[in-house]
Parts: sequence; C-alpha cells; structure tokens
Amino acid sequence: MGDGAAGRVLVVNCGSSTVKLAVVDPDTGERPFAGLADRVGTPDASVRVGTTTRTPDDTSHRGALAVALEELPDDVRSGLVAVGHRIVHGGARFTRSVVVDDDVLAELRGLTDLAPLHVAPGVAGIEAALSVLPDLPQVTVFDTAFHQTMPERAYRYAVPEDWYAEHGVRRYGFHGTSHRYVTAVAAEVLDRPLESLRLVSAHLGNGCSAAAVLHGRSVDTTMGLTPLEGLVMGTRSGDIDPAVVEHMARRLGVSAAEVVALLNRESGLLGVSGHRDMRELEAAALAGDAPAQLALELFCYRLAKHVAGLTVALGGLDALVFTGGIGENSTGVRARVQELLAHLGVRADEGANAVRSQEARRVSAPGSPVDVLVIPTDEELVIARDARELVGAAR
Ligand code: ADP
Repeated sequence: MGDGAAGRVLVVNCGSSTVKLAVVDPDTGERPFAGLADRVGTPDASVRVGTTTRTPDDTSHRGALAVALEELPDDVRSGLVAVGHRIVHGGARFTRSVVVDDDVLAELRGLTDLAPLHVAPGVAGIEAALSVLPDLPQVTVFDTAFHQTMPERAYRYAVPEDWYAEHGVRRYGFHGTSHRYVTAVAAEVLDRPLESLRLVSAHLGNGCSAAAVLHGRSVDTTMGLTPLEGLVMGTRSGDIDPAVVEHMARRLGVSAAEVVALLNRESGLLGVSGHRDMRELEAAALAGDAPAQLALELFCYRLAKHVAGLTVALGGLDALVFTGGIGENSTGVRARVQELLAHLGVRADEGANAVRSQEARRVSAPGSPVDVLVIPTDEELVIARDARELVGAAR
C-alpha cells in the first residue's frame, strides 16, 4: 500500500463542448479533485473547479484542460500515475483499453471518419493531456470495447455484404464501460460467479441502451453503428423504419443528414412530449399531461420489449439490472417495466423498488425467478482501474 495519495488516475471525459475531469483513487473510489469545462470551443467557454469559475483565454479542449489543471493541488498532482480517457467509439480495432502510443493515436484519428462527433473530442482530450501532462502515460477506455464479443449474428445488419466489408456498416453498441461495471457488481450482489449468469443491463441516462451479458461477455445490445438505434431516449428516437428518413426529407425539403439530426436531437421523449428530462416528464404525466403519459409508456414499453428480445441471446434471464440517472432513480419506470415483464417471471417488490438509495441493491420480490437489481454505475472508476492496471502501477 502507498501513502494513500499515490496511484491515482486523472480521468478525462471530453464531449464536443465539454471537458469533465476527476482524479480517482482506483482502490477506494475517492475523488479528491473534480472539474468541469462548459461551452468549450465558443467564446463563452468556462471552467469550474470547486467554487472557482475561470474563463480560459484559449477556449479549445487543450486550453480548458490547462486552466482546470492549474487548480490541481501539488500533492494530488504528484500522486498521479496515469491519465485515463473515455473514448466513445473504438471501431472494430479496439477490443479493450490500451496505452496510447503514436500508433494508437494515428488509429484514433482514422476513426474520426467513422464517428466524427464521437471520436474527435476524445482525440482532442488526448492531445490536450499529452501537451499539458507530457510525463504521464495516457490510457484510452472505449464505450464500444465491451461489445466486441458480440457474435456475428448480433453485430451484422441484413444489408448487402459490401456495405459491411467496404463501408463498415455493422453494429457496435455503446455504454460498454457501464454495462461491464454494473454486471460485475450484479454478480457480487447476487453472490454468484459472473461466469454463471445470464444478465440484461439497462443503462438509462440521457442516452439509453440495454445489453445481454452472458457469463460476463456482451452478446448483444440495443445501440448499433451509432447510438441512435434501440431504446427511446431523451432526444433520440431509437428504432425507426429507415424509410422515414427519405419520407421526412421529402416532406420537409431537407437532406437525409438533417432528418437524422432531428432523430438524434428533437425526437425521443422530447419529440413526443416536449420534455427530455425524465424528472420533468414524470411530473407532467402525474399532472395529467397526455403527451407526457404517452412518452412514458412508449419509453417503458420499448424497453421491456428489448429486454425480452435480449433474453433470446441469453437463453433465459437470471437478473435485470437498472442503472444510469433514470434506472437508478425512477421508481415509476422500474415498476412499469417490471410489470410488463411479469410473464418472464419478474416479480416486483413494491416496497423495495420505492426505496431511494445510492447503494447497489435488489428490488425484486424474494424468490422471484428473475432478480431485479439497481446498481449505480461508475464509469470513472472503471477508467481509473483500467488505466492503473495498464500502466502497471497497481500495488
Ligand atoms: P447522462 O446520460 O447525461 O450521464 P444521467 O445518467 O445523469 O445522464 O441521467 C439523466 C436522466 O436521469 C434524466 O432524464 C433525469 O431526469 C433522470 N433522473 C435523474 N434523477 C431522477 C429522479 N430522481 N427521478 C427520475 N429521473 C431522474
């Protein structure tokens, strides 16, 4: 054991206009430092660390990161052993977390063609960290990597073969870091080996996906080439007949790309009800707002339908895991989904389901043939653990 301050990892999560930073202790999960940069790349960029808010002169990801790290206390800085980056898309090349070298960086830059909105901010974050913290090894952790164990029947679309071979049209899946973490914790809560379990995890945040995890490996998931496929989400439609794209492009007189942008940003809960946020949506539904009630029912029905579908990949179901802001907090969504899955053997415990807690816990009735668990996700902890393991600093 070190002195408690060593062996920590700076976790960097770059979005298109945000940078989230946290120093994480991989053993205890402690976070002695956290920062957030908003509106990166615009003149209004700001960096917040604790109660301090600063305006960077250089408003790029690099500038924001540099300003945030100026607030890092020396004793925390000196205990860092690595920087861990969240990268949304790792393509088919990255099946696990890796230490960044010139080859990895070149491959990542190549991936920006596959998922420009998703990979470019991550690459900007690595470049920023390399220039601000040149002495520390950098590790990338991919949202897609966990799903690289999917069999061909799950990752292929039924489209002309050359779309796959020449143009890379296949399913990847996302939220892999979260699905991996919560299914590992599920095995602990159930006190059974992960290698014996058939699990479905439902990560329900602003983006939503479910994954079938057989004996610890992802065998299918609801998101596809991009995060648009699958469940109803805050602003994304999820599954839709692709002919809708051509139909609406013609009706609205816009390009296919513009319709896809509308399916990503103006659809889902927001499109149906005017509320993208589940808390607001539930309040409106409770007050009798019919579009809000419909959006809620669409959300729960589509989710239950996908969970049932994913049991085909598993040959049964031992436990369903809820996580993400909605999965962890919305007792109403959990109750409705459990009701819709009663025929699979899901038996809810209303009392347990209604309890608010940040602990990993069981919310199904004792003896239910399918266990239902709520497990708070912690992607930063996984990134910190992977990074420290890969740089060989574990003690
Ligand atoms: P992100 O995907 O951006 O990480 P989160 O995992 O934080 O998002 O999830 C955000 C969603 O969780 C929002 O729809 C929010 O309304 C919902 N949420 C948070 N707290 C609650 C709550 N107490 N009840 C219902 N929904 C909640």
